[in-house]
Amino acid sequence: MRYRHSVAQSAEFLRLAVKRMSQQDAALHPLSYAIWYEYVSGINRDLQEAIDSRLKRDGKLDDVATRTLHDKYVADLDAKTALRIGNSVDHLVGQVSDSASHAGAQASRFGDSLERWGDSLQKPAGTRREAIPGVEDILRGTREMQKAIYDLQERLDESSREAQQLRQEVARAREEAMVDALTGLLNRKGFDHALAACLNQEPPLGPGPCLLMIDLDRFKRINDTHGHVFGDRVLAGIGEVLKANVKGKDTAARYGGEEFAVILPRTPRGGAVGLAEALRALVASSRIKQVGRNQALVGNITVSIGIADYVAGEAAADFVARADQALYTAKAQGRNRVILAARPPVEAAVQ
Ligand code: GH3
Ligand code: MG
Ligand code: MG
Repeated sequence: MRYRHSVAQSAEFLRLAVKRMSQQDAALHPLSYAIWYEYVSGINRDLQEAIDSRLKRDGKLDDVATRTLHDKYVADLDAKTALRIGNSVDHLVGQVSDSASHAGAQASRFGDSLERWGDSLQKPAGTRREAIPGVEDILRGTREMQKAIYDLQERLDESSREAQQLRQEVARAREEAMVDALTGLLNRKGFDHALAACLNQEPPLGPGPCLLMIDLDRFKRINDTHGHVFGDRVLAGIGEVLKANVKGKDTAARYGGEEFAVILPRTPRGGAVGLAEALRALVASSRIKQVGRNQALVGNITVSIGIADYVAGEAAADFVARADQALYTAKAQGRNRVILAARPPVEAAVQ
């Protein structure tokens, strides 16, 4: 358990956390309490720094920021801790099981030689082994020890299976922690992992990777006009479009709020532009049904897309920044369009 505070201490943290929570824009739900409890009790330094920098930038935390901070700094820590514990339990059980199996084999060898020794002892004709003082006791003791070791090993095997199961559960929980609940796409953390994995691969002989950053146009206005519930339906709809059109080696993620990303590990820039253009057109022609009485269809939902094609040796952050810069240009040029990022000048000169 990561919270080891006394009742008095935790009551004080509760008071401080509630005070900080009430100063934010986020609802007062358990996720909010978790991050502020960890903040005021000082047990999570990374979270503290992340909150401080958010507050400095945005003034207050809203629901999205609260959930993001919770997912990244509180939920993941638990999964990591559980994984570490699962691994050490498994390791320990493995070690003890090896020693037990070694001891069992030794006891068995000892018992066998004891039996042979008892049989071959110089003894008056007609004397049975059982009649030699002490031998039977030692033999029985040895067999009992062997049985105890055998039982222990069975129990260790059982523990080992449990540790294995625990590890699988934790791995599943970690996978779930990388998925965005609203769209079913990878979330920001899943995106970071996928991009790192893509860039860590041997440089491909062919083209790629390319990265698409996709942002809904005037989404604040859509929320303001039709409500947040409708806004969420739009986000889920974009998720469906991406799932249906991004397949195979390619990965789609919800990068944050109303921003999505697509990683194309082996696609040349021409192909990336083609896909982006197709996605843009699909969204622009879609209609989303409103919930409630009228069920009217709402159109005019558009996205802007920035694309970067990878430059050898480029840091992941720079790759993302170039795609973001192209997205920014797409917005500035009037939205509902696709822009391919310029390649850095040094690279351009090499080509
Ligand atoms: P632009 O075309 O420049 O991108 O304008 P915009 O209004 O889309 O951009 P802005 O960054 O001003 O606003 C983004 C909005 O997205 C504000 C925020 O409330 C909304 N948003 C972020 N996450 C969610 C979400 O999970 N659900 C809903 N309904 N809205 C969200
Ligand atoms: Mg937007
Ligand atoms: Mg945005």
